[in-house]
Amino acid sequence: MIWNPSKECMSLEQKRLLQGKRLHKIVSYVYHNVPFYRKKMQEMDIEPADIQTIDDIVKLPFTTKQDLRDNYPLGLQAAPQSEIIRIHASTGTTGNPTIVGYTRKDIDVWSECMSRCLTAYGVTKGDVFSISYGYGLFTGGLGAHYGVENLGATALPASTGGTRKHAKLLKDLGVSGIACTPSYALHLAEVLDEMGITKEDLNLRIGAFGAEPWTEEMRKEIQNKLGLKAYNIYGLSEIVGPSVSFECECQNGSHINEDHFYPEVIDPVTLEPLPCGQDGELVFTTLTKEGMPVLRYRTRDLCSLMEGECACGRTLVRMSAIKGRSDDMLIIRGINVFPSQVESVLLEIPECAPYYRLVVDRVNNLDKLTVQVEVRQDYLSQVGFDTLSPITALEKKVAERMKNVLSISPVVQIKMPNSLERFEGKAKVVIDNRNIK
Ligand code: ADP
Ligand code: ZN
Repeated sequence: MIWNPSKECMSLEQKRLLQGKRLHKIVSYVYHNVPFYRKKMQEMDIEPADIQTIDDIVKLPFTTKQDLRDNYPLGLQAAPQSEIIRIHASTGTTGNPTIVGYTRKDIDVWSECMSRCLTAYGVTKGDVFSISYGYGLFTGGLGAHYGVENLGATALPASTGGTRKHAKLLKDLGVSGIACTPSYALHLAEVLDEMGITKEDLNLRIGAFGAEPWTEEMRKEIQNKLGLKAYNIYGLSEIVGPSVSFECECQNGSHINEDHFYPEVIDPVTLEPLPCGQDGELVFTTLTKEGMPVLRYRTRDLCSLMEGECACGRTLVRMSAIKGRSDDMLIIRGINVFPSQVESVLLEIPECAPYYRLVVDRVNNLDKLTVQVEVRQDYLSQVGFDTLSPITALEKKVAERMKNVLSISPVVQIKMPNSLERFEGKAKVVIDNRNIK
């Protein structure tokens, strides 16, 4: 099912015309309402009249997270305060959170985009859908909530925390869909297990997971544990929150709601746009936003855009899974390593559980990476607790696999089941001790 075929299945020409028209309008709007953009455009000697088609986007200035921080809290807001009906903030994963105000129309567009995602996952009016993203300043909870209500399904605002109570409700209400971070899905699976609730006792069919990078291996793990089909949902507060892009039933990339959020992928060094298929930094221009529109916002998320039609019938362009954030990338003795690459390697090793940490230290001016990973309980029961040699052998195996696949040689520490901290929101898997001030 497709929520809004007239927008999700437009022909290329129709789409580009609409995007061009909307771009021209939004550029005039920010030029006249946001001094920051007017100044930037004047410095570049461009006026709204220079922006007529979507191809003209390359003439526009970029916006960075630092620009938002420099204009904290509401310096980039375009609409008057009397039009703003809600404020959210980014999580602050990589520094000070940024603040975003939404008008009523912004909230409506967001709900529409969320309904498109949920419909693509197969959610219908009869479903009870649990929202286990945090409610509050974080966009995940309320964003998903309004989408579920807009679609007409039943929203269960479970939020995070109170996982045992939530687990019981999942069973008692026959909840069929859930939205949360992939880390929380794993944590929930553990709690269900402790409570003796099996996936057969549940009616879960659909999971909408996002807010942090996750791998195909993690997808299999979650599907297997919760007995549902796991879909990706992507978004960021500076653009709108979850629903910037979503997977359809083909699960070959995530469709971007590009009639509202125009994507580009650029080379983060030269800032030149890259062709489809090449990995680079994802950049968005909001085409319809009123509260805080952004031009060419550099997300620091790394991915590629995908060419070609999708069998689902949507013509919205697709993006690949996020490989990582440019600021998450670790450089270990000259080699670039993303936590998601380590996750892929670890989860392919059957003895390893999906809980891990990357600890980076600087010893004698050299970077030292330690990978801590929990051993699976069933493996431990099989080999017995009283001898250390299988653990030592496993440490060696993991280290060798890392070396073969990633060309790095970390110190590997196998941890006992349940010994690493669990996360309800976004997981913090990297502990970088090099930057302690
Ligand atoms: P913060 O940047 O402080 O975490 P947000 O709470 O707005 O702020 O989170 C947005 C970020 O979360 C994105 O820029 C991206 O890095 C990450 N993210 C969101 N959804 C996904 C997803 N499906 N896959 C990978 N990363 C994601
Ligand atoms: Zn599709």
